[in-house]
Amino acid sequence: MAQYNYDLFVIGAGSGGMRTARMASDYGARVAIAEERYLGGTCVNVGCVPKKLLVYAAQFKDHFQAAAGFGWTVGKSTFNWLSLIANKNQEIERLQAVYGNQLQQSGAEVITGRASLLDAHTVVVNGMKYSAERIVIATGGWPSVPNIPGKQHIVTSNEMFFLDKLPKSIVIVGGGYIAVEFASVLHGFGVRTTLCHRGHKLLRGFDEDIRDFLANEMARKGINVQLNTDIEAVESTADCFTARFIDGSKVKTDLIMYATGRMPNSTGFGLKALGVELDSDGAIKVNADYQTNVPSIYALGDVTNRFNLTPVALAEAMALVNKLYGDQSRAVDYDNIPTAVFCQPNIGTVGLTETQAREKYPDIDVYKTRFTPMRNTLSGIDEKALIKMIVVRSTDRVVGIHMVGPDAPEIIQGMAIAIRAGATKSVFDSTIGVHPTAAEEFVTLRRNF
Ligand code: FAD
Ligand code: NDP
Repeated sequence: MAQYNYDLFVIGAGSGGMRTARMASDYGARVAIAEERYLGGTCVNVGCVPKKLLVYAAQFKDHFQAAAGFGWTVGKSTFNWLSLIANKNQEIERLQAVYGNQLQQSGAEVITGRASLLDAHTVVVNGMKYSAERIVIATGGWPSVPNIPGKQHIVTSNEMFFLDKLPKSIVIVGGGYIAVEFASVLHGFGVRTTLCHRGHKLLRGFDEDIRDFLANEMARKGINVQLNTDIEAVESTADCFTARFIDGSKVKTDLIMYATGRMPNSTGFGLKALGVELDSDGAIKVNADYQTNVPSIYALGDVTNRFNLTPVALAEAMALVNKLYGDQSRAVDYDNIPTAVFCQPNIGTVGLTETQAREKYPDIDVYKTRFTPMRNTLSGIDEKALIKMIVVRSTDRVVGIHMVGPDAPEIIQGMAIAIRAGATKSVFDSTIGVHPTAAEEFVTLRRNF
């Protein structure tokens, strides 16, 4: 008789946990997975998927405006927020059902409820004890909001997906992925949008040219971008909220959204009592094999707070399961992870920024081009695109590619493959372009800055 109820118990059915459970089960392990809130986790329910649906919806404003230049007469367009949210909810329910079926078909047992750890091999859910040889923590993250007076009046991205009405005006706090994406989305829906960030530029960690270019394009579109500022307190009045800024100024608005980062979900379920080590931000510390300092307990995805992206959580899950139950183990390569920001215009980026490249290599060539995408010619939409490539002169290797412009996220996926394959600038130069596209600019970059 087996010593434990399960070989593997996964806590959290988000991107990382779902993939861990399904794959381990496919390899023949006896698996259970506990989920307290929603199958699919953040990405499916309050992250990537509903966000992208909102991004698509918000782009129609520009499409309608552009139509006339291409000869179309479009009637008066109106937007119904509740209809979008209802359709979005339906799609999410469909996806949740798909995930439930996939788990069931893989043979993993799904346990609904909040899991906590009793000891290094025992998990408790709804008062029931389950023992397992190994436990994987894939509990993700949660919005982190600074403790300001009036904090109870603000919303985070979690609530934005379920608002019962669209505000006429919004103040969004933060300068990261979520803040700039939501600022673009709300502006697209016609909401008067103020983006307020404590730093001197948006999107810390991105290439400086991309940061400058995006802030400029967002401002040109009509988003009120306020830098070097912060909210000190929020007050609620009968019909609106008032944000009081550090310089003493006040702004009245219908809604205040905080997008000031996310913290790992690592408290309140027994990690501390077991002595599982966390870092100063509350992220679970793991070794190269996703193992914590308690040998039977593993952790992956956002709860380890490294690259908080769905494809990374998926890759980590596959690496762990292959190592534990598979015949081939392939470690995740954390270099050159491509990423996109679905703001307007879109950003796609992979590899080193110019600053990082200059720190690492003595001889850098930088190629850049700014242009008007063809779709913005007849449309009358005054939105520009930027493409930037960073090359190590001595080896000719391309080490960084950055783009702001239409379809940048779609384009950057292919660029990431080229960078991983070690493509040189001459490989790009000798590649025939696809004409007429924005992506062909990558094979015609000539001027070194
Ligand atoms: P999660 O998906 O957060 O899953 C954790 C799960 O664990 C949750 O379902 C939670 O309910 C459950 N849980 C927690 N504690 C317990 C417990 N004690 N017992 C039982 N269950 C528990 N990434 C991208 O790559 N592209 C994007 O476009 C993108 N957009 C995003 C937009 C937004 C608004 C947000 C918030 C995130 C976005 N992300 C995006 C990030 C992405 O969603 C995360 O990186 C990804 O979901 C992490 O997966 P995970 O498995 O680590 O955690
Ligand atoms: P980010 O870490 O990207 O950005 C947080 C922002 O909030 C930063 O601009 C930060 O400023 C600011 N901030 C932090 N603390 C405070 C504070 N106390 N007061 C004022 N401002 C503050 O977090 P997000 O919440 O935007 O997103 C979380 C993560 O989710 C992302 O990092 C990303 O990994 C993932 N994500 C990915 C997406 C995608 O792939 N397209 C989309 C959305 C999310 P500063 O720079 O000065 O620290």
